[in-house]
Amino acid sequence: MDVLVLNAGSSSLKYQLIRTGTHEEVLVKGQVERIGEPGGEAHNHAEAVERALAGLSGIEAVGHRVVHGGVRFSGSVRITGEVERVIEECSALAPLHNPHNLAAYRASRRLLENLPHVAVFDTSFFHTLPARAYLYALPWEYYERDHIRRYGFHGTSHRYLAARAGALLGGAGKLITCHLGNGCSVCAVDGGRAVDVSLGFTPLEGLVMGSRSGDIDPGILFHLGRTRGLDLAALERLLNRESGLKGLSGRSNDMRDLEEAAVAGDARAELAIEVFCYRLVRYIGAFWAVLGGADGLVFSAGIGENRTGVRTRVCRGLECFGVRLDEEANRTTVRREGRISADGALPVWVIPTNEEVMIARDTAAVVRA
Ligand code: AMP
Repeated sequence: MDVLVLNAGSSSLKYQLIRTGTHEEVLVKGQVERIGEPGGEAHNHAEAVERALAGLSGIEAVGHRVVHGGVRFSGSVRITGEVERVIEECSALAPLHNPHNLAAYRASRRLLENLPHVAVFDTSFFHTLPARAYLYALPWEYYERDHIRRYGFHGTSHRYLAARAGALLGGAGKLITCHLGNGCSVCAVDGGRAVDVSLGFTPLEGLVMGSRSGDIDPGILFHLGRTRGLDLAALERLLNRESGLKGLSGRSNDMRDLEEAAVAGDARAELAIEVFCYRLVRYIGAFWAVLGGADGLVFSAGIGENRTGVRTRVCRGLECFGVRLDEEANRTTVRREGRISADGALPVWVIPTNEEVMIARDTAAVVRA
């Protein structure tokens, strides 16, 4: 089945036409950028979808990446009027993402009215989390009335990584998957089911990210509100856009820049990398205990697939769990799949993530069901 995969962000639309089957084949791949910006490639998402479709033919189904599926969707679904309504409701939980996903859906529905459209949610993989992992220790009514709980994100990526690592392992097993891009998250997977994840109610919790803080003591916010007069919008910007690697280093949100600067003697760049790796070791250690031991560890996304130095540092911190890298394999496994652990040590893999293939597979499966 030839599936068009649409991934709409606030100012970009990524698309791929993928032929599903025993081996997926990417037929076309493209991106419309700077949507709605002066001099951009499209005025709005509808125009962006039109542009994307202009060169395509033979589409049999459309798969949409939708960031937030709330508590309703535990898997991918065909988009009906009712599904569309729930996705719209979930916009309150993901105001920066769901509206753009919906805009792209509505535009493509108008242009490809007779095709099946399927929503694949970033959150649905985490429906298997036990209550002890998704509850925050707030008064109960905030969970029941306000739906405050851990939802988790990057689910399509972690699901892909767990499936691929399971295949390499020869069985589903207990896995810890690390998605380390501009956004970062770590996930504990047992027998193919997610049991915990570092991202929370929003994509702000957990690991140090490009410009997001990850975990901080919430008391810091009250303190800054009192002493610096920062309002909610300023605090939100501080934690989402000015923190993380960028904030610590005062230089860049890009790990490449920081590694270069650290080698050249920039102490704060070095410290930012150290905090990043330390936080990750701390989470992996916690998830190791949550799983009662792990059978394998996976690195993925921009940093995980490319930054051999980060992998070395993190794995050194995990030697007590039997993790040991093969230095040569680590050095040469860049942007491709491979095992980077020493013989006889706990398996550590680099696996390039592929959310688009997962969306295409799901779409074909939902349409055929
Ligand atoms: P992503 O969000 O997956 O594109 O990842 C972005 C992060 O990965 C940034 O911190 C980059 O420094 C890093 N990264 C992405 N691509 C590369 C590359 N080819 N070489 C080195 N680092 C990369």
